[in-house]
Amino acid sequence: MEKCVELACLDLEGVLIPEIWIAFAEKTGIEELKATTRDIPDYDVLMKQRLAILKAHDLGLNEIQEVIATLSPLPGAGEFIDWLRERFQVVILSDTFYEFAQPLMRQLGFPTLLCHKLEVSESGEITDYRLRQKDPKRTSIKAFHSLNYRCIAAGDSYNDTTMLKEADAGILFNAPDNVIAEFPEFPAVRGYDALKAEFLKASERKLAP
Ligand SMILES: [Mg+2]
Repeated sequence: MEKCVELACLDLEGVLIPEIWIAFAEKTGIEELKATTRDIPDYDVLMKQRLAILKAHDLGLNEIQEVIATLSPLPGAGEFIDWLRERFQVVILSDTFYEFAQPLMRQLGFPTLLCHKLEVSESGEITDYRLRQKDPKRTSIKAFHSLNYRCIAAGDSYNDTTMLKEADAGILFNAPDNVIAEFPEFPAVRGYDALKAEFLKASERKLAP
């Protein structure tokens, strides 16, 4: 059956907001929190280390959310997502956690976000985390396809590439050079104006720019 409605599926960090852990580390001065999957490839090991560091600094969810609330979406992100939502149904597919993203999503008007969840005790201590499923971005696209949506996806990094492949059209946005070189099958653009143009190109409809 022909897919009749188009979804725009966006990565969050690096596309609409800064990398939360890096921005948080800069804001608090806790250097050890700057480690990413580039330094510690096993996400589970990395997350356990991050939670241990937060605990050592006596930072619970409330304190963390207060810091995150002082961060801003990337310049132009708000205008971009408003533009996109006028033309597509928009879903954000992210590997972050609802509790961390919340203060930034408020600044973007709470678009639909599919991501992971933390476990927090009554006193606000982060005790654990729950990954929603394996390969969640790609699996989400597959699920949207089963609902007969045509998906155009954009992301900036390795953890987006299975989503970009699964989508009907995939776009690399502000990606590092090594990712662009490794995945030449995806158009790679920088800046929101170029990203808008790529969405218009990928759409099967005739949309106003
Ligand atoms: Mg990203």
